[in-house]
Amino acid sequence: MIPFNKPYLSGNETEYITDAVRSGKISGNGLYTQKCHAFFEEKYSFRKVLLTTSCTDALEMAAILADLQPGDEVIIPSYTFVSTALAFVRQGARIVFADSTSESPNLDAERLESLITERTRVIVPVHYAGIACDMDKIMALARTYNLLVIEDAAQSIDSSYKGVPLGSIGHLAAFSFHETKNIISGEGGMLVINDERFAHRSEIVWEKGTNRSEFFRGEVNKYGWIDVGSSFLPSEIIAAFLYAQLENLEKIQNRRAALWNYYYQALTPISDLGYFELPKIPDYATNNAHMFFLVCRNAAQRDQLIKALKDSGILAVFHYLSLHKSEYYKDKHDGRELPFSDYYSAMLVRLPLFFELSFSDIDQIVQVIKTVFSSRYDAEVIHYNNQL
Ligand SMILES: *Cc1c(COP(=O)(O)O)cnc(C)c1O
Repeated sequence: MIPFNKPYLSGNETEYITDAVRSGKISGNGLYTQKCHAFFEEKYSFRKVLLTTSCTDALEMAAILADLQPGDEVIIPSYTFVSTALAFVRQGARIVFADSTSESPNLDAERLESLITERTRVIVPVHYAGIACDMDKIMALARTYNLLVIEDAAQSIDSSYKGVPLGSIGHLAAFSFHETKNIISGEGGMLVINDERFAHRSEIVWEKGTNRSEFFRGEVNKYGWIDVGSSFLPSEIIAAFLYAQLENLEKIQNRRAALWNYYYQALTPISDLGYFELPKIPDYATNNAHMFFLVCRNAAQRDQLIKALKDSGILAVFHYLSLHKSEYYKDKHDGRELPFSDYYSAMLVRLPLFFELSFSDIDQIVQVIKTVFSSRYDAEVIHYNNQL
């Protein structure tokens, strides 16, 4: 059996958890939280970061900081995870869904301007598979129309756009350390605050609407309730686990990249026959090897591929269903067709990719894919010959 994902323990996770427990402080914002914060701020030049209990929570913090009023509009891609939209819906915003491009599931920056209205306040680019959206175009529109850009960088750890780390470009950004991502803590996330205007308030929202962070630093001599917020900070147990992963970030990223490249080379000859598309990495983007996906030619072929892999004990999975067609939002959507979002919903398949996957596992997966398409190829040739 080859699972789709397997969480990887890089070495010191349990040791650091034990250390955190023995230290006597296991609630949030202790030593390990601060070590993680320092790591990210130094390595990626993020202005300020706050660990959260999930990326969903980081997005909720961002939506609170954006100070949305009912009826304000937020542009997000339809091809994304529910959380991207949920955070803003909870603040009373109206979601305006953007379509993906023909080349990748990322939102189409070329057609973004036509979605901007008087009520637009925020654009949320999602860097699908850790591959950057066209950020220069998005930031230029944000400047022209005075909008906030909140990067959903859930999948984007250690990836960049024109040499600049993802998560450092938007006014705010949200990362995930869910066990399906590259760097994990079970559940976990992080808010990045690049715009100084949000730095002070972000700490208050993080600590249940109180100025407890300032109190801990000795900047005020008592703390109290001064704003809205929630309990967004994770315990030291989570932060200790995460810090162990961060110490091995390079090792994890190198292994994933080697596996990704091996898949790519092995599948290129089959892709060249026209059976499916491989991921395309624009010149401005890096590949952080978060995900290996194929885009099939039609839905039936995609489902046949998933089934053939499953019959061989290999778990491959499709991904998002267009949010503009979801049970919850379809009646609130403005009715526009989003053909590329639907295209990826129907035809994209993700292959197993995790640290402990082996090259021979990949050989086995590629062999099944070859068999599916060679039988298909033969059938198509016979069908064609019969018609002559
Ligand atoms: C994983 C993911 C999320 C949610 O992350 P959690 O940490 O599970 O809340 C949000 N957006 C995208 C694009 C994701 O891939």
